[in-house]
Amino acid sequence: MGRIREGGCLCGAVRFKTDGEPLNVRICHCRTCQKAMGSPFYARALFDARAVTVEGETAHYATSEALHREFCPACGTRLFSRRTNGTAVGVALATFDDRNAFAPTEHIWVSEKIEWVRIDDGLTQHPGTVT
Ligand SMILES: [Zn+2]
Repeated sequence: MGRIREGGCLCGAVRFKTDGEPLNVRICHCRTCQKAMGSPFYARALFDARAVTVEGETAHYATSEALHREFCPACGTRLFSRRTNGTAVGVALATFDDRNAFAPTEHIWVSEKIEWVRIDDGLTQHPGTVT
């Protein structure tokens, strides 16, 4: 077991724990994330699915064959992006109790970035996805 970090939705109906360090921490600027989050981008920490435990009921829908988005049905907070093959879960950085628990290390899909979003953090920018 690694370090445990906790978080949850705005109303408190959904709580989660992550175990250990994430696989990566990225900001995604793709159009799907913009729409799904209702936000200029999606900042998330990606974890092995076995490292994330969730308490409380979530609802989900598919934004691609490979990815489900999970949210709290009571308050609507968007919490997770879950790979449908069961391998990994993205956790929205802002939903951790410690909002500074993880900081992104790179930007992906900057080719679809909203124009007024200025990236001056010095982090690597990828035009699309990276493996
Ligand atoms: Zn909620």
